[in-house]
Amino acid sequence: MDLKNKSISLRNIIIISFLTIIVLTILSITIFVTKTFESEFGKYVDDSNKSEVNHLINFDLNNIYKEKNWDVHLIKKLAEDSIEKGIVLEVYNKNNKLIYGILEDEKSESNEILNNIRKNMQSIEENWTPKLEQYKIGIYNENKDKVGYAQILYYKSLYYMENDIMFLNIINDFMKVISLISIGSVVLIAFIISKSISRSIENVSSKAKNMSDGKYNDKLKYNSNIKEAKELIESINKLSYKLNEQELLRKRITTDVAHELRTPLTSIQGHLDCMIDGIWEATPERLSSIREETDRLSNLVGQLKILSRYDSESNMINKSKVNLNEFIEHFIYNYEGDALFKDINITYDLEEIYISLDKEQFSQVLANLLSNAIKYTNINGKIHIKAYEDCNNVIISIKDNGVGIPKDDISFIFERFYRVDKSRDKETGGIGIGLSIVKSIIEDHNGQIFVNSEVNKGTEFVIILPNNKNNI
Ligand code: ADP
Repeated sequence: MDLKNKSISLRNIIIISFLTIIVLTILSITIFVTKTFESEFGKYVDDSNKSEVNHLINFDLNNIYKEKNWDVHLIKKLAEDSIEKGIVLEVYNKNNKLIYGILEDEKSESNEILNNIRKNMQSIEENWTPKLEQYKIGIYNENKDKVGYAQILYYKSLYYMENDIMFLNIINDFMKVISLISIGSVVLIAFIISKSISRSIENVSSKAKNMSDGKYNDKLKYNSNIKEAKELIESINKLSYKLNEQELLRKRITTDVAHELRTPLTSIQGHLDCMIDGIWEATPERLSSIREETDRLSNLVGQLKILSRYDSESNMINKSKVNLNEFIEHFIYNYEGDALFKDINITYDLEEIYISLDKEQFSQVLANLLSNAIKYTNINGKIHIKAYEDCNNVIISIKDNGVGIPKDDISFIFERFYRVDKSRDKETGGIGIGLSIVKSIIEDHNGQIFVNSEVNKGTEFVIILPNNKNNI
């Protein structure tokens, strides 16, 4: 049998572990309690047997001879009481003549009591020796003359009477019942706990299996009251949701890219076919229309190339010290031509800040954000750029009063190929990957980017970069 690959269910592991723990605990408690109790109880019984004998010797036997007569009635009563406690009493006069002896008077009953003690004790303790201890105590009259003696016999070793053994048995039975109840409750609790844990794991595992088959859609509805299991279920649901989104995005990217490539290609093909068939002449206008479409294609391919570079895990950041206000100012200068084309006024407010960043990659960030601001701002619009320090962060804000972004779209605009309004973006030439490039670069610089926007009022992108002066 291949033991290495043999797996045991979680439920069995928990039940077996709980059972082993409780059985060992109960066993050790039972052994400890029983041993301690038996030894204490033995001491108590032994003391009480001895004090019976002492009482008999020191008090009771003083009264059995009075006014020159033996009180046979009292002796008989004392002897009958004593034999009930396993003590044999015989009284003789000074001529060794028996006055009263329980073994003579009630022979069979007395023997039965002594035999029972022996049998019971030997059943508890095999090595118990039924040796009888014998005491002789002189009996004196009022003038202190010896008139006879009492002979007392009892077992030398510790012995229990019938009711002592009954008491011990009750305690033992009680321990057994407690042990059984504890084991039963532990099995029940272990079963409930293990069921609760294993059901969560079973559900999550079946959900994971569905996910591996590409089924991300249905949410795992099972609810657990165990905190960790609850978190596990929430995580798998989140993961499933994310994977579903990614899957949808992947499908959309494929169709979008195919569509983006096909449109200019069809147009180019159409133009060329017409020219080859002699329907159209190759006029400079028609050739420049073909040129525009090829530009669109090469722009698309170029953007995809840039995205794959920044998207890859291995994007290397090559930081150097940058005077941020000069860097941004220079950038604004480069874009002033495009802004002027739409009569857009670019203003700025830049603190003198030195920061360490990858110049080339950060240029891409500013280029994408600034060109978007110009693209999505109407004629005569305004763009304002700010850069300032706050605590240990550098904040850069690029704010326009353009078309804005609808609320429902805001959370998606950093996703690849996400465009708010496809027809509008077609006019503006966007393909929806500029902002995902921006986000990748900012995150590679350990920064964050946020957007505030309102339709028809404008949009503000806020970049927060950590500025550790020691690293500059
Ligand atoms: P694109 O290349 O299409 O501009 P981006 O990733 O740069 O792609 O932007 C994603 C979408 O976000 C754009 O399609 C546009 O709808 C919206 N967007 C980006 N910047 C702005 C802005 N300044 N004002 C309004 N909408 C914007």
